[in-house]
Amino acid sequence: MIERDVDLAPFNTLRLPGYTKRYCRLTAASQLAGLPDGPRFVLGGGSNLLLAGNFEGLVIHMALTGKHLLQADHETVLVEAAAGENWHDFVEWTLSQGWPGLENLALIPGQVGAAPVQNIGAYGLEAGERIAEVRAWDSQARREVHFSRAECRFGYRHSVFKQHGWHLDGRMIITSVVFRLPREWRPNLAYADLARELAADVAPSPQRVADAVIAIRRRKLPDPAHLPNAGSFFENPIVDAEAARKLQTRYPDLPAYAQPDGRFKLAAGWMIERAGWKGRDLGAVGMYEKQALVLVHRGGGTGVDALRLVSAVQDAVEAMFGVRLKPEPVVLGRILE
Ligand SMILES: Cc1cc2nc3c(=O)[nH]c(=O)nc-3n(C[C@H](O)[C@H](O)[C@H](O)COP(=O)(O)OP(=O)(O)OC[C@H]3O[C@@H](n4cnc5c(N)ncnc54)[C@H](O)[C@@H]3O)c2cc1C
Repeated sequence: MIERDVDLAPFNTLRLPGYTKRYCRLTAASQLAGLPDGPRFVLGGGSNLLLAGNFEGLVIHMALTGKHLLQADHETVLVEAAAGENWHDFVEWTLSQGWPGLENLALIPGQVGAAPVQNIGAYGLEAGERIAEVRAWDSQARREVHFSRAECRFGYRHSVFKQHGWHLDGRMIITSVVFRLPREWRPNLAYADLARELAADVAPSPQRVADAVIAIRRRKLPDPAHLPNAGSFFENPIVDAEAARKLQTRYPDLPAYAQPDGRFKLAAGWMIERAGWKGRDLGAVGMYEKQALVLVHRGGGTGVDALRLVSAVQDAVEAMFGVRLKPEPVVLGRILE
């Protein structure tokens, strides 16, 4: 069940090099209780990962599959999907079953089990808005645990799994996620780009919304299969109203979006572009020419190259705007110089 010295380059979408000392593919829940103790990391599709170098622990590669209807009434549908299901295929499957609600999150790479970890979001929707429960194996207490939606403490790119550092130490192995999808459906076109894409459609169907999201994403984001990347690399920083006002006085075009708590979310991509990093490389890595927020690996680079670029971009943005950007991906492995 446990393999030794496994190459992780094929398992991260930035295609950064690095080996793990021990590796196991988790294909059945019955394997959970037998996993050895020690440093570990739960790996899904590797699309939110910066591999800094070799990992001295155990990589548990999630491969649990299966999805089914749990319950349906006249208001909602409850669907459960195993953690190893591909996210986009799951979204398409719900639509094909006539259960809309996840269409704004179409084409996000990775697995279902990772969706609650950083509460994936795009085009005006966050996964947490549709999650009813997360089921996990607590490898410290050695038992199955269920997290209600409230217990997941979802926020912008945040959850209880990140709050406790479980996304780094692999204590909580998410085995499945239960989604609550609404019977009464209205398109969520709050996001301006999406509304524009569907402007000619008076009453778009859920599939039509998904197709529009897919079309926009294909135009904006590089396909990791052709140009390795981890999607938007930095979180959009959230600052208090006073800081946002000061920045907008200095930079009137700086996009700033009011949050329910009175703070403002700033557009990190805009700041990176203004700081001169859009389309600029540092060795084998760079910030994508069509979307400044995306860090790309052009081949032959290492995690150290990527981390050097991350610091350079953070420093440049901080020098100009006084805000330090926070990377979205998880950093794994010992840094090899
Ligand atoms: C082209 C591109 C576009 C993207 N667009 C978006 C976007 O629009 N919105 C967005 O939010 N993200 C986006 N991402 C980031 C990424 O797709 C998501 O974060 C996704 O949820 C990661 O899934 P994964 O299976 O690849 O997770 P991994 O990268 O394998 O892991 C990410 C984290 O989740 C943990 N984890 C994974 N599975 C489990 C599990 N079963 N149990 C416990 N912990 C687990 C890992 O330990 C790690 O900490 C994009 C990435 C790419 C490459």
